[in-house]
Amino acid sequence: MNMITNHMPTAALQALDAAHHVHPFSANTALGQEGARVITRARGVTLTDSDGNEILDAMAGLWCVNIGYGRDELAEVAARQMRELPYYNTFFKTTHVPVIALSQKLAELAPGDLNHTFFAAGGSDANDTNIRLVRTYWQTKGKPGKDVIISRKNAYHGSSVGSASLGGMAAMHAQGGIPIPNIHHIGQPNWWAEGGDMDPGEFGLARARELEEAILELGEDRVAAFIAEPVQGAGGVIVAPDTYWPEIQRICDKYEILLIADEVICGFGRTGNWFGSQTLNIRPDIMTVAKGLSSGYAPIGGSILSDEVAEVISSTDFNHGYTYSGHPVAAAVALENLRILEEEKIVEHVRDVAAPYLKAKWEALVDHPLIGEAKIVGMMGSVAMTPHKESRAAFAAPAGTVGQIARDRCFANNLVMRHVGDRMIISPPLVMTPGDIDTLIARATKALDETHAIAKDQGLMDPA
Ligand SMILES: *Cc1c(COP(=O)(O)O)cnc(C)c1O
Repeated sequence: MNMITNHMPTAALQALDAAHHVHPFSANTALGQEGARVITRARGVTLTDSDGNEILDAMAGLWCVNIGYGRDELAEVAARQMRELPYYNTFFKTTHVPVIALSQKLAELAPGDLNHTFFAAGGSDANDTNIRLVRTYWQTKGKPGKDVIISRKNAYHGSSVGSASLGGMAAMHAQGGIPIPNIHHIGQPNWWAEGGDMDPGEFGLARARELEEAILELGEDRVAAFIAEPVQGAGGVIVAPDTYWPEIQRICDKYEILLIADEVICGFGRTGNWFGSQTLNIRPDIMTVAKGLSSGYAPIGGSILSDEVAEVISSTDFNHGYTYSGHPVAAAVALENLRILEEEKIVEHVRDVAAPYLKAKWEALVDHPLIGEAKIVGMMGSVAMTPHKESRAAFAAPAGTVGQIARDRCFANNLVMRHVGDRMIISPPLVMTPGDIDTLIARATKALDETHAIAKDQGLMDPA
């Protein structure tokens, strides 16, 4: 058998990686000089690297390993499915058992009448589906002019041309000729960074009303849909003020537009319910799912459609699909992941045990001299670092300078935590125990102490 073994010294692996592997979202030359950390195995909530370090993974990979690492059941299911039927497509009047079973299960778990899934291999391509789908929906209903999709600045909806256009990441829009036409971005509900003198409630309403203003300005007959993450993930775990989502729902109800909830991170237990839409009490017409759908064990995503949206789309020939839409191995793995989430009551564990325990400790980080705000919903949280809590000032250094220091201090303390600018974020596996959470908080606190000392040394604690 051609096993992928780890028999080389770390430096040799790093040199080969630098020579031949181009990393996503990286300055590859600089990374090559520093050397990428080589992860060799993982169990539960812990990664092991090629030097034998044991690292607590407070990001669940990339927000996806909801059930934790090392679950043999998923490996068994994948092997069995590969032997039985490793691949078949669902294009030409054919289907197969894993995709039927998974579609049925998602209809059962998804709220309301979200009963129909169009599959993709991840979140980006699922959101590409959504762009074509909502435009085809309105075309089919005799309103081809409704083709504008409203999204938000600093949203993340994926990295393909379509989904990155939906997203509102300025650094992504600066490269490669995006956004594509007819995507309109409104402001994000990020009170810490953009709330100015308003109180959070007032600011949340103002940002929600930007949706109504955009619909009126563009014309209701031009707007197809609004897309948003229930809690912005890659944007920095931005939790909207309480006033925001009820107002967004009111506006979506008032005007004839579709609401797309991008549940790629929030779905499958992350917020303490099966879906973030339930936690935030919103009623989407379409949900994007990926990541936690398979806990990252296999690449799979999809768009879950309401009865009405599915009925309209099904009345026409929708000229769209991926070779790996509903891939049988990925579907079987996802189904087994959902069985584990359900039978082991992992969503209930988040809601009743892990999230309340983490929330108390996470919010207490606001007492740290470097931290001005601590936000958390379920098992996704963020802290804003600042040199001056009262004024919410930025550091006197390019955004992300202190964030990068903090991220490196986390890694040095065997903790994976990410930075987005100068916010530190977590999204750990949902199966974390209170003991794991204690370890997370202890390592994070130590890393923040060290970051604070370095920032003081470098004169970064003066407000900008
Ligand atoms: C990760 C992510 C995506 C993109 O998913 P990929 O599987 O990386 O293509 C889309 N939306 C959100 C909210 C995400 O976090």
